[in-house]
Amino acid sequence: MTKNVVVLALLILVATTWSNRVVLMLAITGLIGGPPALNEKSEEPQHVKWFDNYFTLEYIDEKTIAIGEPRYWQVNYNYLILGDERAILFDSGPGLKDIKPVIASLTDLPVTVVASHLHYDHVGNHDRFASIAMLDVPSTRARATENGFKISSMQHLGFLENIKNPVLNVSEWWQPNTHIDLGGRTLKILNAPGHTPDSLILWDEQSDLLFAGDYIYDGLLYAMLPGSDLDDYEQTAARLLSIINDTTRLLTAHRESTSGAPILARDDLLDLHQALQKINRGDLKGGGWFSKTYKINQRLSLASDQY
Ligand SMILES: [Zn+2]
Repeated sequence: MTKNVVVLALLILVATTWSNRVVLMLAITGLIGGPPALNEKSEEPQHVKWFDNYFTLEYIDEKTIAIGEPRYWQVNYNYLILGDERAILFDSGPGLKDIKPVIASLTDLPVTVVASHLHYDHVGNHDRFASIAMLDVPSTRARATENGFKISSMQHLGFLENIKNPVLNVSEWWQPNTHIDLGGRTLKILNAPGHTPDSLILWDEQSDLLFAGDYIYDGLLYAMLPGSDLDDYEQTAARLLSIINDTTRLLTAHRESTSGAPILARDDLLDLHQALQKINRGDLKGGGWFSKTYKINQRLSLASDQY
């Protein structure tokens, strides 16, 4: 109790000094001291299988598998993307449970893990993998040292749930706007700033799938974290809309109101883009006093402290 009071006081100090209001907000919501207890097992659609007591498996197509963590309070989804010669694990979850046995049950291919971004709930199992890829942008390059890749605490935010910040041995640097070839399957690497400056989105044109990370999902989008930016958010939306198709499925990293893997459509991205244009012009009013929350559509809203 006393310790929490001291930590809270320190966080308030940090938040006030660095203008990171969200740090203060999250501290007040009481997330200090470790992740909340696991959710009860959820009802999932028939085609979703429980791997064990924690992870779920769902085939999006025969070479794309959603690995869900519905019992973790943020309900993370990671994606195993299979080619003929190698595979990518896109996000590795908060690391509360070892994801490696899940991967081993699904493929014999060599697997490279990569994160949509560096928040603690997306890199938690990274250090269990020998092959780690990183998006090559200035904010990530700056963190590479002789002794490995150290995520800054404001990029990682694991202190909010007492989750350790790993040192990673990066084996591949991926340039934005290049392609990664998995053998018979090629994905485009996109830098998608908005949620964070170094966010990565993968575009699989052949399968018509966009791996969207935390840029968009069903629920409250966080555009009020360190490095979040509404202009970036809007530009990324415009760019993604110019790339994807009407039929593209957006595979996202969290869910709130749905069951099964959180899949959105181009229309959701369109709604997000229109809302961002209005927010940035001052034509859409947000509610709340700490960070403003803007309604995007029935299922999506966005929080920002840029006002
Ligand atoms: Zn995030």
